[in-house]
Amino acid sequence: MAQIVCKDVVLGYEGKAVVQNLNFEVNKGDYLCIVGENGSGKSTLIRAMLRLKEPMSGEICMDDGLETDGIGYLPQQTVVQKDFPASVQEIVRSGCLGRFGWRPFYGRAEKERAAENMEKLGIAHLAKRCYRELSGGQQQRVLLARALCATRYMLLLDEPVSGLDPAAVQEMYELLEKLNHEEKITIIMVSHDIHAAAVYADRILHISEEPLFFGTKEDYLKSEIGKTCFSRMGGQIHV
Ligand code: ADP
Repeated sequence: MAQIVCKDVVLGYEGKAVVQNLNFEVNKGDYLCIVGENGSGKSTLIRAMLRLKEPMSGEICMDDGLETDGIGYLPQQTVVQKDFPASVQEIVRSGCLGRFGWRPFYGRAEKERAAENMEKLGIAHLAKRCYRELSGGQQQRVLLARALCATRYMLLLDEPVSGLDPAAVQEMYELLEKLNHEEKITIIMVSHDIHAAAVYADRILHISEEPLFFGTKEDYLKSEIGKTCFSRMGGQIHV
């Protein structure tokens, strides 16, 4: 069942297209990696899927469940976020705000949901700790728990492993795989890590001014663009 359908979408700024002819769909339970050079429009596409940016033309259709129950979003980490002076619990709970509307306090349902997600991501013991004192990997798990409070259906992640050490990168990928396999949460991830895309994703969207590829990982790895991209990264393919 399609959750997002992107039809003939053109995205750009001030009348100038950045990426055009975007045609793809995301089905429930997919794990889609969006790859492409810097500046090719990956973050712009993420913003468009979050309805933060209007396409210049074409349309992005979403199923009703997503429109109402939201998408969990994990933005790129910024220096400011890393220094955020709030507790883990407060940050995770704030993910519930979009779902329940703004209130000056959290109700029992929100608190339970936040606790459940902290447990799921192995950070329950960090609940009272200050976010900025945590390691990069722990901080990403906090933001992932926060994103999960906003949705049970779909996570959109923008470079979720950048800046993490190799063990934390591995942990993050394993958590996402588990959420995808066990809870059937759809994953859409912008990534520079083409090797991880080859291991974990089931679909690849490779964009530049025109989308170069959309299809299964297996077909991508056989395509000219996929092979070129891999050899440029000095990579072997481990699928
Ligand atoms: P990527 O995520 O693939 O690195 P982006 O989506 O961030 O690419 O950017 C795509 C292009 O759009 C770049 O050329 C960038 O300079 C331009 N761009 C991004 N944000 C804006 C903006 N707010 N105003 C004008 N141009 C922008």
